[in-house]
Amino acid sequence: MKITSVDVMALPGVKRMALRPICCRINTDEGISGYGEAGIAIVTGARGAFELIKDYSEMILGMNPLYNDVIWETLYKESFWAQGNGAVMMAAISAIDTALWDIKGKYYNAPVHELLGGKHRDKLRSYISQLQFGYQHKTFSNPGSIEAYRASYERAMEEGYDCIKVNFFEKDGNNHEMDHTRTTGSFSKEDLKRIEERIRVAREVCGDDVDIIVENHAMTDYFTALQIARIAEPYNILFMEEPMTPLNADIWQKLAENTSIPLATGERMFTRWGFLPMLKNGSLTVAQPDVGNCGGITECRKIADMCHVYDVNVQTHVCSSPISVAVGMQLEAAIPNFIIHEHHVANTMEEIKRLGKYDYQPKNGYLEVPDLPGIGQELSDWALENAEITTIK
Ligand code: MG
Repeated sequence: MKITSVDVMALPGVKRMALRPICCRINTDEGISGYGEAGIAIVTGARGAFELIKDYSEMILGMNPLYNDVIWETLYKESFWAQGNGAVMMAAISAIDTALWDIKGKYYNAPVHELLGGKHRDKLRSYISQLQFGYQHKTFSNPGSIEAYRASYERAMEEGYDCIKVNFFEKDGNNHEMDHTRTTGSFSKEDLKRIEERIRVAREVCGDDVDIIVENHAMTDYFTALQIARIAEPYNILFMEEPMTPLNADIWQKLAENTSIPLATGERMFTRWGFLPMLKNGSLTVAQPDVGNCGGITECRKIADMCHVYDVNVQTHVCSSPISVAVGMQLEAAIPNFIIHEHHVANTMEEIKRLGKYDYQPKNGYLEVPDLPGIGQELSDWALENAEITTIK
């Protein structure tokens, strides 16, 4: 089998969330096609991945799509810049790698989880992620009021989740984004009181049997992360995500030694080499590689296995189209050290759901892993009709 062409696609996303999914479809001379996604749909970088997938597509034309490991090493070593890692390079490699696994699954008529060794579980415990985006109603806006936060927690409970993730400081109480000047150095007393109230109300609404994950989006530094940790510790937090930039493992070790809350990160980390420093110094409890930007399924499996050596649990970061949701599910089903699946509120929005042929939504907080061949997802006819597509052949 040979790769004959690659369709590189920019999909319509959600403008107000700056969410623009970039996907690819690799086509072969045997009529099998596979889908992949670059996991950098949000904020900046999506167009960069679109252009890079085009460059990488030129490199793989004529190659055997079943040779995913050979292709991965070729792209990594022979594209010059990939060995420095970086979001755009690795997202483009990830999109291509994932599409190859989709082809492999369809070729062998097996779901990806089976090719990876089989399902450790049929259902994935899932948390509803990023409730600060206004999960309380269909317009998905949050003015930052405590009422809006409370209503979002209540909706999550009504839908049967037993775990939620929230950025408790993204907006202040006056509908203003908290920029870096307010989230580093030191939080004001007023900001700290508001953050504490939002966490306290989450615990009140959800009760003691629900897990709460604190999300910092790497907007805090060592000291402001420690301030939030001190506030959050009495509320029995499952883990704290991205309290600081992921690039200096030493400060992670310092924070890990100074808080009882387990630490998590990974969506801005790439390849085995990127995860190694935090595994070695013991600061990481939960690794969160994004299959769409850490290097694809081939690399994410290797990262997960490396985490297993250090007893670090894994969830894949998911914040993109229904392709990414399905890919994350395949990988998470097939690794022994899975902890919990991230279901982003964006993946409950009609603008995103309509991009996928299948709609995977948790029921009572659990996602059922499909047994369809490949990644178990395709782009919908609507998505293909409304995508910007460039074909490399
Ligand atoms: Mg995150």
